[in-house]
Amino acid sequence: MANIFIISAPSGSGKSTLVRALRETVSNLEFSISYTTRRPRGTEQNGREYYFVTREEFEAMVRRQEFLEHAEVFGNYYGTARRFLESAEEKAYDLLLDIDVQGAEQIKRKLPAAQSIFILPPNRGELERRLRERSQDSEAVIQRRLEAAAREIENYWKYDYILVNDRLPKSVKDLQAILLAERQKRQEQTDRNLIARAEMCRLDRMREKLHPILESFQRTAAGGGK
Ligand code: ADP
Ligand code: 5GP
Repeated sequence: MANIFIISAPSGSGKSTLVRALRETVSNLEFSISYTTRRPRGTEQNGREYYFVTREEFEAMVRRQEFLEHAEVFGNYYGTARRFLESAEEKAYDLLLDIDVQGAEQIKRKLPAAQSIFILPPNRGELERRLRERSQDSEAVIQRRLEAAAREIENYWKYDYILVNDRLPKSVKDLQAILLAERQKRQEQTDRNLIARAEMCRLDRMREKLHPILESFQRTAAGGGK
């Protein structure tokens, strides 16, 4: 059985940056490429970031039960094709899914052994800075993303691991540790340092650290400053 890792994060937290780092450093990991009905952005290519399909094509795939999970996110459909799990199993690889909270819930229900990781920015001000630095979006879109982030992070407690993406090199190592520690559990090998590092990111261990982050979003949601 492949290990399944689910990664979710509010836009701008650094998820793509972290997933890119994993591609370069963790072997035997299959990256699921989702299907979506949204239009390609910027330099996105069909079959690289996503498979871009029409609503009709997507709905036909739903009818043929080709999806492991699917959901509507910001007015577009997104779905994970079953064949990525089958392909990972055939190669004896693990599978990484970059999906939203609704998708994560569906996968957890179907495949309870899947491990989920929620990535958070260090605070709202830093998320805003990163969204601006990426300079992909208009001011109105940045404001919408910040509002969506405040809602999305309320779901943090549904995840097994929490990763606060503060210093990038540390975050990459923490994320690697989570993946490799889960692998080791199955292989009955143990690298104590690796497992200890992963355990530090467990939801229960992170609750205290999360208070100020959640507060920075709640203050703005209530109309205050950053
Ligand atoms: P996401 O995929 O979550 O929307 P990105 O990976 O595109 O986010 O990152 C958003 C911006 O923040 C990018 O400009 C990226 O270079 C930057 N970034 C990512 N991680 C960090 C970090 N730990 N510290 C500072 N900047 C970061
Ligand atoms: P974006 O359009 O910005 O690439 O992604 C928007 C949101 O859709 C992100 O939260 C991303 O994780 C989520 N997403 C991407 N692919 C899938 C998928 O296959 N299933 C689900 N449920 N969400 C997805």
